[in-house]
Amino acid sequence: MMKNPRYITSIEDLPGIPGDEKMRLAEVTKKFAFRTNEYYASLINWDDPGDPIRRIIIPDPRELEDWGALDPSREQDYTVAPGVQHKYRETALFLTSDVCGGFCRFCFRKRLFMNRADEIARDFSEGIGYVREHPEITNVLLTGGDPLLMATSRLERIISRIREIDHVQIIRLGSKMAAFNPYRILNDPDLPRMIRTHSTIEKRIYLMAHFNHARELTPQAIDALEVLRAAGAIVVNQTPLLRGINSDPSTLTDLFKRLSFIGVPPYYVFQCRPTLGNHLFEMPVEESYLIFEKARASCSGLAKRARFVISHATGKIEVVGKTENATYFKYHQAADPRDVGRFLAFRSNPEAFWFDDYIELLEDSRVFPDEDEHFPAFPTGRKTPDDTQVIG
Ligand code: SF4
Repeated sequence: MMKNPRYITSIEDLPGIPGDEKMRLAEVTKKFAFRTNEYYASLINWDDPGDPIRRIIIPDPRELEDWGALDPSREQDYTVAPGVQHKYRETALFLTSDVCGGFCRFCFRKRLFMNRADEIARDFSEGIGYVREHPEITNVLLTGGDPLLMATSRLERIISRIREIDHVQIIRLGSKMAAFNPYRILNDPDLPRMIRTHSTIEKRIYLMAHFNHARELTPQAIDALEVLRAAGAIVVNQTPLLRGINSDPSTLTDLFKRLSFIGVPPYYVFQCRPTLGNHLFEMPVEESYLIFEKARASCSGLAKRARFVISHATGKIEVVGKTENATYFKYHQAADPRDVGRFLAFRSNPEAFWFDDYIELLEDSRVFPDEDEHFPAFPTGRKTPDDTQVIG
């Protein structure tokens, strides 16, 4: 058993960065928190300034550009109890932690690491009560921050209480721990024991893994995934599409293929959210979509199961196609259930970074047009309010 890697929270403690650059990067960390660990830092090729692992975890002065919003998907609008959000009918989301195994520079929840930890619940009693009273909730997602940063005993206390609620079938753990620090999983026999207890053949625990680049799929990471899977967890992967990290079709193909080879289906690829400090990672929607499609073109069916979606305030909007003049969207999930499946064609906008940047609607059709005569012209809240205005 290799010992747990030490966490690194000061740029000073990083090897491979010259002194003057450390000073510039330390400025960035005054605004956006920095955290990695010895294991993850060891994956960086310090000779390559564009190294993808470096871009994921090492601050960049461009983060200080005034662009983006702190909560671009307006998650706070869906908060129903301390640390608990309910946006999609079947799914409740618990913000369990304000720490991760590292802090991704592009994190869309970086607000949680910036003295906004009031969004995290220390006590989930109210949230658990809410789920109990809502039989439509069949899925509970524990995320944050990373739930695997909690001691297994604390995580199990939360999971046991959720498991007492009959109508909750699936518990998801949104975690990048297998990528950031597989030793958290490999060195804790209590974790697979806990998974084995609570992931049953009829009610599974899912691990929503977060590999952004195939270089993160080290032998240790693959072993960690296997420990969880052998204990009964179902593992899938989701990643944003990120400039300079996985924005090359062959890089994304490689990630999809490697994931499929080890039995982890690519689940979602997200348009990078226009979060404060994220300009350097952003790609226009249509460019991202074309990269995504090119990447899938050289994959087997099993490797191309991901959907490319915009996690908009109104729902998960899949980009389903593009012609010369039009871009096509479909609501894969929607805060307003009447929007699920809704199909929208907009005049193409190569400058669009987010759904709100599509202005000229060409077609708007519903899958079940007869079921609701009160169908609104646009989903509620589609327009971005001032506090989340994307600054281009
Ligand atoms: S693992 Fe997820 S929540 Fe944590 S810093 Fe990365 S993107 Fe944010």
